[in-house]
Amino acid sequence: MTTAFPTRLRRLRDWLATDAQGADAFLVTSPVNVRYLTGFTGSNASLLVTAADVTLATDSRYVVQASQQCPAVPLLVTRDGPVALVAAATDQGVERLAFEAGHVTVAGYAALPRTGPVLVPTTDVVEELRIVKDYEEIAALRHACRITDEALGRLLPQLRAGLTERAIARRLEWLLNECGADGPSFDTIVAAGPNSAVPHHRPTDRAVQPGDLLKIDFGALLDGYHADETRTFVVGAPARPWQQELHDLVAAAQEAGRAALAAGADVATVDAAARQVIAAAGHADHFGHGLGHGVGLQIHEAPLLARGVPGSLCDRTLVTIEPGVYLPGRGGVRIEDTLLVTGPGSESLTASPRDLLVLG
Ligand code: ZN
Ligand code: ZN
Repeated sequence: MTTAFPTRLRRLRDWLATDAQGADAFLVTSPVNVRYLTGFTGSNASLLVTAADVTLATDSRYVVQASQQCPAVPLLVTRDGPVALVAAATDQGVERLAFEAGHVTVAGYAALPRTGPVLVPTTDVVEELRIVKDYEEIAALRHACRITDEALGRLLPQLRAGLTERAIARRLEWLLNECGADGPSFDTIVAAGPNSAVPHHRPTDRAVQPGDLLKIDFGALLDGYHADETRTFVVGAPARPWQQELHDLVAAAQEAGRAALAAGADVATVDAAARQVIAAAGHADHFGHGLGHGVGLQIHEAPLLARGVPGSLCDRTLVTIEPGVYLPGRGGVRIEDTLLVTGPGSESLTASPRDLLVLG
């Protein structure tokens, strides 16, 4: 059982004490945020946090699970947690109750009692706490990244022309589990030939042709934490000059992005460091997406690294760096790693070779 939950709750209480628009309690209705604060992973989960107390609400399906995952947290068994917790807040004398405006439906909001505390909408409060990882989270992410590398290392000798994108994706997801993952951290992307020019291509029954670029974007899920890595290969024939040039360009951009990572660096500056390498080669229009994103209990979480985004990086933040150049109809290259921002630099937790490997 982790020791981090009291610290996470304390950080939310610090927010209540200092920055809470006058709120004296917090209603958490995002299941991921409930998990972050308590360790409870049930799909029906809401949480009331006051200065002195915490109450978890879930339904009868999850009573045993809650007693195992967060035995110290008092439990309210109900199908409608938010309504029951607003009533509990009223009983506890809460006057202003912060809630997660991004995680309540219009119908759910309409159902909340209006006779109790004033409801104070907030946005991304727990999400912002989650940006800085504690040591248990970093250990889980480090382990997930190691499994990711190991699974890819075991896949590569098996890759050859003739395999379909779907078969490769299935094989890699099987290897992730073999290497100790709880599952894939998202639907594995395997994109061959012209399909590699589609950033988020879904695997098809297209067989890899000799000389295809093969782009694989995948990761291990472990204890709720998500690894994320992309590598691009050539299969069945030596790399053609345009493929090698494209890969060299993306590798240089990715290295520039990694080098720009540091606690205190502006996210827009990190994005620009990689983007200008690609723009200088005339491919600005072929790199449409952001440079990277935070990872943790979700595969995409704060902070977003993209053009024009305000804010700077914190120490102990996990982000991806994933530039890509996509030439419609021909092919694309993306190289992605999951990195830990640490002081003046960063550490890449995924560490598979970044060269353009020729396989099969
Ligand atoms: Zn990815
Ligand atoms: Zn990613």
